[in-house]
Amino acid sequence: MLRENIASVEERIARACARAGRRREEITLLAVTKRFSPAVMIEAFEAGLRDFGENYVQEFEGKAPALTGIEGARFHLIGRLQSNKSRRAAELFDAIQTVDSEKLARRLGVVAGELRKTLAVMIEVKLSAEEAKHGAAAESLNELAAAIRATPGLCLGGLMTMPPWSEDPEAPRPYFARLRELAQPLGVTQLSMGMSNDFETAIEEGATHIRVGTALFGRRPKP
Ligand SMILES: *Cc1c(COP(=O)(O)O)cnc(C)c1O
Repeated sequence: MLRENIASVEERIARACARAGRRREEITLLAVTKRFSPAVMIEAFEAGLRDFGENYVQEFEGKAPALTGIEGARFHLIGRLQSNKSRRAAELFDAIQTVDSEKLARRLGVVAGELRKTLAVMIEVKLSAEEAKHGAAAESLNELAAAIRATPGLCLGGLMTMPPWSEDPEAPRPYFARLRELAQPLGVTQLSMGMSNDFETAIEEGATHIRVGTALFGRRPKP
């Protein structure tokens, strides 16, 4: 089941790359494993997946001890990070995609410094007025990017966003295009955008990181 799902996701990625004139190597497939067990993650690793997206620091903290055996896996935090959890997040993750304030960047930088590690970070950008969406305002990106770049221990890779959910895979296209436009003047190259039902659109609009859960693992277990 998982291997077939991976094959079908890879086929969709390949077709989108062909349409957009892009190469498969330009795109990192993040397996989104929130609410799935470490056993599922290990199975995914054995099937060839290397990058994992997790939403909750606490949930991943519980799973991490069971994952020490999968060497070479990279763990990305893709859910909202409250600054009181920044220490654990900096310890547990290789990359944080949801930095949205200077305060949070500062705290992550302090911990990264103590641990002598470099945390890959992205800025989560809020592109819609929806209340449930977090992220930095487009107008604040210059300042926030400068602050992150001035913070030792953090390496700014790019921008991440989550458009309003829609069944229509075309609906988020303007949001994806907007994220690409915002990244350019900042001089960052990574764009984390696109999920199970719209990652082809995201690839066509320049995504370098797609975050895919359901299309790989099926419906998530109830919390
Ligand atoms: C859950 C989640 C995903 C994956 O969503 P699917 O529709 O299951 O692919 C991607 N990004 C974020 C931020 C998520 O919370």
